[in-house]
Parts: sequence; C-alpha cells; structure tokens
Amino acid sequence: MKRVLLKLSGEALAGDKKTGFDEPTVTQVAKQVKTLVDQGMEIGIVIGGGNFWRGRSSEKIDRTKADQIGMLATVMNCIYVSEIFRSVGMKTSVMTPFTCGAFTELFSKDRANENLANGVVTFFAGGTGHPYFSTDTATVLRAIEIEAEVILLAKSIDGVYDSDPKDNPAAKKFDEISIAEVIDRKLGVVDMTASILCMENKMPMLVFGLNQENSIVNTVNGTLNGTKVTVS
Ligand code: UDP
Repeated sequence: MKRVLLKLSGEALAGDKKTGFDEPTVTQVAKQVKTLVDQGMEIGIVIGGGNFWRGRSSEKIDRTKADQIGMLATVMNCIYVSEIFRSVGMKTSVMTPFTCGAFTELFSKDRANENLANGVVTFFAGGTGHPYFSTDTATVLRAIEIEAEVILLAKSIDGVYDSDPKDNPAAKKFDEISIAEVIDRKLGVVDMTASILCMENKMPMLVFGLNQENSIVNTVNGTLNGTKVTVS
C-alpha cells in the first residue's frame, strides 16, 4: 500500500471523556502513523467533529449555521492532531476548502499531491465546506481526489456487523462485504451519501477498531480482522 486516507472519528480522539481530546489516545495514533510514513506510505487524514459539535447539536439555530460550527470543529481537531503528529517527528499540513487565513492551507488537488509526495501527512479539515454533508462524505471525496488506494476507517467498533452488537449479542461480523450490500442493508458503515460515492467511484474501505492495539499498522499489514468493504 502506498497512499491511503485515514478517517478518525472525533469521538475516538476524546477517549472515555467523550468530549475534547484524550492526548494519550492521539499520541498512540501519531506513533502508528509515523511507522507507516517511515515505511514510505503517503497518508491523508480526515477527522470528524463529534467530540465538539454536530449539525444536529442545536434545534434552535439554523442548520446551515450549525453545520458551519461543525466544520470549524473539524478544523480545531485537525490543528490539534497535526501538532501531536509533529511532536513525534512527522511533517504535516492542514488543508481546508475555505480560507482560514494563516491557520491552514487552501485545499487543491495539486497542492495536496505535492504535500503527500513530499512525505507530509496531509489533514483535510473543514469537511467538504458545505452544510448537509459530513466528514464521511469529505473522506470519500478526498480519497477519490488524491487517488488513494483505500480508505482506512478507524471506528469505536471493530468492523461491520449485520446488526448493532450493543443491542444484539448475536450480531455477526463480516470479514468482507460489498458496498452494494452495505447500501442495500443500510448498515451505516459511512452515511448513505458517502456510501454511494464509494460505490460509484470504486473506493474500497478497511473498517477496524481504533481501540485495538496497533490497529492502524496491523490493518495496513493485513494482520487485523476488521472488515473489508469491496467495490468489485
Ligand atoms: N459538517 C458539514 N459538512 C461537511 C462536514 C461536516 O456540515 O462536509 C458538519 C456537520 O454539522 C457535522 C459536523 O460538521 O455534524 C461534524 O462532522 P462529523 O462528520 O463528525 O459529524 P457526524 O456525522 O458525526 O454528525
């Protein structure tokens, strides 16, 4: 594997606290990503915003404005995580689809490619820049644009199940499942818009649990039993 896009949920960064950041968790992620960069891999990153805010967080304010707050939450997450990455010795860039002055670089495919080819871990912050989308859609969109081989989907659950294991102890985990079946059965690996984008553009995903030890590296090395979402 050469170029991948890693998606981290905002909640995963918060650890048990569920909000804000859990530095040991993020440092663990940083060390694993460094292992991959040292092997010559090119890594793009998208981070959710759920540890701060969701578009659905307030019923009182306009959805577009609430979504803007959500997108800004992802910018904060990316700036924080990129600094932890730097502290363990990686080069990083945070790109956004809208200008944030000197805080971030404006996203363009060419500039992202340049960063990635130079071994710079590139964070795609601010989602798609549009309300009513999600960081799932931003993940698939950027993965397609940078021509990533696969999306690494780090979740709080260790793969794709036929039903929620929290509600159903007999839930069955898939080793492999097609994106068409994910859509058909509404399994919600990523949201529906993102799933359709994956299917139409043939972008596969590897789904795994972030809490399992060394799970990012092991997934890349093919030694972790997550779920492979195929696109045939
Ligand atoms: N968001 C958005 N457009 C995007 C990406 C994110 O409006 O392209 C907003 C939306 O409000 C979302 C929040 O940012 O709820 C955080 O993103 P994330 O994907 O983590 O949200 P979730 O799907 O978990 O609510």
